[in-house]
Amino acid sequence: MLGRLARWLRIMGIDVEYASPGMSDTSIINTCLEHDMILLTRDKELHVRYPKSLYIEAQDHMGQIRQFISRYRVDESRLFTRCPQCNALLEKKKTGELKGIIPDGVLDRFSSVLYCNNCDKYYWEGDHFNRIVKALEGLGIRI
Ligand SMILES: [Zn+2]
Repeated sequence: MLGRLARWLRIMGIDVEYASPGMSDTSIINTCLEHDMILLTRDKELHVRYPKSLYIEAQDHMGQIRQFISRYRVDESRLFTRCPQCNALLEKKKTGELKGIIPDGVLDRFSSVLYCNNCDKYYWEGDHFNRIVKALEGLGIRI
């Protein structure tokens, strides 16, 4: 239910795992305890059972991000270090080595792009990236 929030937090460099569907409350809590994780949830009962949790009230993802950053610090140096899909740390790749792998327009515009080894996916500073930067700046995060 908080998948969109999770992707945004990863873009902000925050280490976020997503509970698998069907996971019981007890196993979610045990996993969080084991890894000393903060739990973000829309489930009031779960929130009460695990004190190190944030109960997400907002319906829209921007409101949810606002709720998160009002409580936790965002380290600006970590922005764009994690894959939004899978949470793995991204690597920087020189575009010179990527001919035929990424579009020529991207090769011409950038000297490096970000790469997720886990998803085999490339990220660069296109329109989507610029929209994300604008949204984060709107929330008071300096890029
Ligand atoms: Zn990935």
